[in-house]
Amino acid sequence: MIQHGPVFVQSCGTKSHPDYFSALLCVFYVIIEQFEVHAMNENIAKKNEALAQTVIKGLESRNMTGFYAASKEDALKTALSLIPENSTIAMGGCTSATEIGLIDALKNGKYNYIDRAQMEPRASLMAAYDADIFLASANAMTSDGEIVNIDGNANRVSCIAQGPKRVVFIVGMNKICADLDSAIKRARNIAAPANAQRFNIDTPCKKTGKCFDCKSPDTICCQFLITRFSKHPGRINVILVNDNLGF
Ligand code: SF4
Repeated sequence: MIQHGPVFVQSCGTKSHPDYFSALLCVFYVIIEQFEVHAMNENIAKKNEALAQTVIKGLESRNMTGFYAASKEDALKTALSLIPENSTIAMGGCTSATEIGLIDALKNGKYNYIDRAQMEPRASLMAAYDADIFLASANAMTSDGEIVNIDGNANRVSCIAQGPKRVVFIVGMNKICADLDSAIKRARNIAAPANAQRFNIDTPCKKTGKCFDCKSPDTICCQFLITRFSKHPGRINVILVNDNLGF
């Protein structure tokens, strides 16, 4: 039906089917086609929800906590429930937090948001280590709850590993991979080359869109962090959002 629908609609645009019956059939095909696309998206959403529950079990087995959010709006509510008012909050380049509206909510609410752009780098790093909350995303995650991140300056991965009292990850379901090998491949071949586009750097991935395992002085891939277990209950929290977030 999907294949035939557009062809039929195109023919309706000509004078080859000028009668009402053809016009009606056109409308019918368009409706069916939209229904099928919608049904397909619904199935992906259902699959993502089921997969999120698998990831949450994996996180629990690693002394970490997972939350499922059906939408960006749900994700924002869950994130704010994990961040008490008057907390000090730092962020490590988390596009996903911006996409769900969390950064605006923190800047406009009763929080002490550490704005790195307004601080001297060393001072902002020290403030981030001492923060109550650290916001991050993942470059990739496995369905068993391992979190993979690559960093250039290591401010992000070091704060994930140690320092801030609580880490809140905002992770779109587009980041979930079957196993650690595919998660590392995603981090290196999708997340890092996309991240490279944000900077004025000279790396092979910026020109080709693919990782060359470079040793360029401009490389943004200096440190790899795999978070596979937390010694501290309640410190690592992952909000899995049924949407495509970040890269
Ligand atoms: S080419 Fe270099 S900078 Fe780019 S993703 Fe690969 S290792 Fe990182």
